[in-house]
Parts: sequence; C-alpha cells; structure tokens
Amino acid sequence: MQRRVLVATSNAGKLRDFGGAAAPYGITIASIPNFSSLPQVVEDGSTFEENACKKAKAYSLAVPGELVLADDSGLEIDALGGAPGVHSARYAADEPHAAECNTEDEANNARVLRELASVAAEKRTARFVCVLAVARGGETLQTFRGTAEGVLLDVPRGENGFGYDPLFYFPQIGKTFAELSAEEKARYSHRGAAFRAFLEWCRTT
Ligand code: IMP
Repeated sequence: MQRRVLVATSNAGKLRDFGGAAAPYGITIASIPNFSSLPQVVEDGSTFEENACKKAKAYSLAVPGELVLADDSGLEIDALGGAPGVHSARYAADEPHAAECNTEDEANNARVLRELASVAAEKRTARFVCVLAVARGGETLQTFRGTAEGVLLDVPRGENGFGYDPLFYFPQIGKTFAELSAEEKARYSHRGAAFRAFLEWCRTT
C-alpha cells in the first residue's frame, strides 16, 4: 500500500481537508515540492476527467516514483445544459457585470442567478462534481468521481465555504453548502466522496 500521496495543489485548505481524511488510513498527504514554481498545466479539457488526468500526468513527471493526485471540480446546472461545468471557476469572467462585483465567486453566482431567473424552483436541479485522478511517472492509474445533488436557491444563504456554496441547497440535510461545518462538508460533498473512493483504492492497491 502506498503511504504517501503528493497533491497537485498549493491550496492549504484542500491539503488540510485531504490530510485529515487520509490520516485514519495511515496515508500522509503533502503538496508537490515547489508546486507553485512548476509550469502551470492549462485546464482546457471538455470534461472534469480530462482536466484532472492532464494535471495528474503532467505533475507526476516532476516527482518520479511518487503517487500524484490532481482534481477538477465544478457545478452542473440541468436547466443550463450542464453549465458552468468545467468553466465553473471563471464563469463570469467575460461578463460586463463582473466589474461591479467584489469577488470572482460573487460574479459567478450573480451570473447563475440571472440565467436562472425565469426557471421554476422544481427545475433548478444541479450537482457538484469532483473528479480525482491519480498518476505516477506520467501515467494515469485511476480516476474517482464524486457528486452531490442539490437545488439552486434564488437568494444566497450561509457564510461558510466558497464558490457556489451559498446558492447550493442540499435537501438531504436541509441546508445550503455554505451552512455546513467543515466536517459536514467533508461528509456530504462531491470532493469528500471522490476522496473516500480514492482512499479505498489506496487501501486495496
Ligand atoms: P477547482 O476544481 O478547484 O478548480 O474548482 C472549480 C470551481 O468550481 C471553483 O472555483 C468553484 O467555483 C466551483 N466549485 C468546486 N467545488 C466547489 C464547492 O465545493 N463549493 C462551491 N463551489 C465549488
């Protein structure tokens, strides 16, 4: 069993969350050394899988012999044909309204609310998707997909989390993702589900 996994991120929050979930499995999580100085991989794939694999393969070449994990995630809204999908992070980037918003997250949420303005409550279904890819020496070994099904509200709720969390109502526990504690988010989120599948794979590989 592999004891150490290097994650292709410099995001301290992601490392902490992954590290906490991996510890009971006896697996250590660390960032790829000098990650921010490596050439950045362009996430131009048309699926979460493509982007996660592209990143895992490319970054694993920088650390020969190590198991490297990369992720891609986003929100799929049924009434918008699956948008923003792989474009979730910069959905409002080219919008004239974006300049009036304080943050990119706020602009993205404003665009989603505008596009859903005439969509009835029962048609506002959506899911968060997270795909993790694990690679070694430039080869993808496996991918893991986690999802969380919800409904988009027309007014944001909650102060926690990031991104589209304040609009994403999760009926299973009657809260938006921005109303969840860190522990609840790990338990119910798409990222938590994908990561648990990865940890099971580690245990049996
Ligand atoms: P990335 O995979 O970390 O690049 O995330 C892509 C984008 O998807 C983020 O910038 C958010 O807009 C959105 N996203 C992914 N996961 C979440 C989540 O758990 N909550 C809210 N937004 C998310």
